[in-house]
Amino acid sequence: MSRPGRGGTPGMNQPPTLINLDHCATTPADPRVVEAMLPYFTERAANPAAEHAAGRAARAGLEDARARVAALIGAEEAELVFTAGATEANNLAIRGAAAFYGERRRHVIAASHDHPSLRKPVERLAERGFAVTWLDPDADGRIDPEGVAASLRPDTLLVTLAWAHNEVGTIQPIADISAVCRPRGVLVHADAAQMLGKRPVSVSEAGVDLLTGSAHKMYGPKGIGCLYVRRRPRVRLEPLIAGGGQERGLRPGTANVPAAVGFGRAAAIAAEEMAGDAAILEPLRDRLEARLLEGLPGVRRTVAPPDRLPHVAHLWLAEADARALAEAAPGVCMGHGPACDAAGTPSRALTRLGLSEAQARGALRFGLGRGQSGAEIAEAARELIAAGSPRGPASPEPAG
Ligand code: PMP
Repeated sequence: MSRPGRGGTPGMNQPPTLINLDHCATTPADPRVVEAMLPYFTERAANPAAEHAAGRAARAGLEDARARVAALIGAEEAELVFTAGATEANNLAIRGAAAFYGERRRHVIAASHDHPSLRKPVERLAERGFAVTWLDPDADGRIDPEGVAASLRPDTLLVTLAWAHNEVGTIQPIADISAVCRPRGVLVHADAAQMLGKRPVSVSEAGVDLLTGSAHKMYGPKGIGCLYVRRRPRVRLEPLIAGGGQERGLRPGTANVPAAVGFGRAAAIAAEEMAGDAAILEPLRDRLEARLLEGLPGVRRTVAPPDRLPHVAHLWLAEADARALAEAAPGVCMGHGPACDAAGTPSRALTRLGLSEAQARGALRFGLGRGQSGAEIAEAARELIAAGSPRGPASPEPAG
């Protein structure tokens, strides 16, 4: 029997189809992306630095990809460095800026609830004698630009923040934050890994100096990301690793051309389709949230910020462990329980938002994705509510 909205009929030897509501963790590559990548594994597989015709063909693919990703964020091609992902881009931004400017400017501002790939490089700087101001978010996950302004010092080098939060989906007022930093010559780094392809991004409107992206969060391949590095006025970075002169010396090593081409294609598709995707997913997200708030016992909204990602909902169960719910609804893939920094260590994000560790164990993160249907979302809600509700009718009193 076919099951509505799941795009498949589970058969004898097929695994059951799953409803993927975990698109914040990663997205499947769009088939159009995979198609664009394929020739770069075979007939266009030359080293893009090679001076022969095949090298030029590979280089053309790489540079076309750079132009497409740059166009998505309103940057110039020369301002874009390909990396192995957002983690590397965040490290390059934070540690690279500190290594270049750190003799004169030794203070960094970061958010206490952000992704570990932002927090950990800042912690490294603190170990090396940098002063760090950790800003706490408000109850909705928002960093107050006035809090940033009040933390600025004459030796502040950098403010580094996730533009959109990877767990709760809160969008930071980055342009307002940049506006207080700019006049003081303080660099602003925005990690836009969750933002790109979901909402329009313009580096000039946002006023940022450095911006991170990751292809696998926007229907591109894993293992490729980018760092935007402003050229006017020019931002200087020390590379993290030493080697050849690729990526203007900022990221030595032979470029991952197939992945870059996939990132470029994903960026071009996002530019065309993100508004349409959001127009479909936002009402579906709202419906999912409303159904769960109505049907799951003891469920609450984690945040209600003025601005949040259109495809993300974050809830927590006051009376149950999210892991138990996930086990009882194995057909639904979602983020459950506190995301972990390392095995067994709960992420600080939720506790910084005011949840106790016990409450964070009830956390449910939903990330809807391109192409999902109302029927699929309704089915996910039904399965979760059935899994979370007290089981069946009460059994009769045992005799005697
Ligand atoms: N920053 C944010 C905000 C993220 O959500 C993620 C992925 N969870 C990363 C950085 C790391 O991205 P990557 O997997 O590309 O290294």
